[in-house]
Amino acid sequence: MNPLILDDLCERLQLTEVARLAGPRADSAAAAQDPYTAYLADLLQAEVDARQQRYVSSRVQMAHLPFRKPLDTFDFAFQPSIDERQIRELATLQWIDAAANILFLGPPGVGKSHLTVSLALQAIQARQSVYFVTIQDMIADLRRAWEDNRFPARLAVYTRPKLLCVDEVGYLPLERLDATLFFRLVSARYERGSMILTSNKSFSEWGEVFGDAVLATAILDRLLHHSTVVNIRGESYRLREKKRSQGRDGLLVPPASGTVHA
Ligand code: ADP
Ligand code: MG
Repeated sequence: MNPLILDDLCERLQLTEVARLAGPRADSAAAAQDPYTAYLADLLQAEVDARQQRYVSSRVQMAHLPFRKPLDTFDFAFQPSIDERQIRELATLQWIDAAANILFLGPPGVGKSHLTVSLALQAIQARQSVYFVTIQDMIADLRRAWEDNRFPARLAVYTRPKLLCVDEVGYLPLERLDATLFFRLVSARYERGSMILTSNKSFSEWGEVFGDAVLATAILDRLLHHSTVVNIRGESYRLREKKRSQGRDGLLVPPASGTVHA
């Protein structure tokens, strides 16, 4: 067949990978005496894979993930307080179908954001809509919208995605209005869409974070009703990496005098 006709047909069907690989794969299929059907399946698989990659890349950008680390980059051996089987179970995403939540609690550097991103990537690959935001950025945005009388439209931005990841709850305390806006968001998503939250504060400290024990209880009540809480206790991965690189450079022993930076 005239390769120009094949190129033209592929262009009309938007089969860019088939067009690119048809020639070279035909040669290797002929050499290996592969059946025609295997050759065709091979080409179509390449097309499907490329489309999935393009889809994931664009959705990762739309989701505003702060980085892109799949679950296989997480070193479970480093953090024994995490039950690997539980995380792998969560990676099957059944909790998203149930509109349930995940809360990762623990001190800085133990992998809360990493695991959130990994599960978010998993959800994107499964074609679920995802949005990732820090609580600070989200609340600042909702507050501006509140002051400009366009709160419902902005709230919809955070209620629409099937999975909303809210990072860094508790790093800074919220003002009363901010806490109320967060409560509105949690109520709007309750039993409708999943959330992953990360926090360095235990639940008993959420009263201080939200500046009001009653409001904090109402928020927790809704978040925890259908939820998995993952408590991570352990060393900071960041500090380990820092110690390691310092060790390599022979700087592990701090200077005898002067300021030692953490
Ligand atoms: P947290 O959100 O709990 O403060 P992060 O998830 O941001 O911590 O982790 C800090 C850094 O260390 C990130 O670059 C993350 O990818 C990495 N990290 C943390 N824990 C692990 C781990 N167990 N395996 C691999 N990388 C890790
Ligand atoms: Mg984090």
